[in-house]
Amino acid sequence: METLGDDDGPIDVHDYRHGLKLLKETRDTSHWANKKGYACPACGKPFEQLFVSEKTDNTFTPSSVTPFCIRHEPNRILMFRH
Ligand SMILES: [Zn+2]
Repeated sequence: METLGDDDGPIDVHDYRHGLKLLKETRDTSHWANKKGYACPACGKPFEQLFVSEKTDNTFTPSSVTPFCIRHEPNRILMFRH
């Protein structure tokens, strides 16, 4: 199983573009579905969706009780929903 961002540097989503489906994109956010079963860099388990945000404030309203992981990069937040 391939893990997003195997090294410590920022994750380039476009390196994994063939296995991710873009669900929604705005100027400073993008939301992806994990088609290929990539593993989450935080916990090592496969995730279902990835949300990437360059915004300072983000509010999440979970539609169901699913665990998620957060990866913080200098200019971005990445949220992996399981
Ligand atoms: Zn995780």
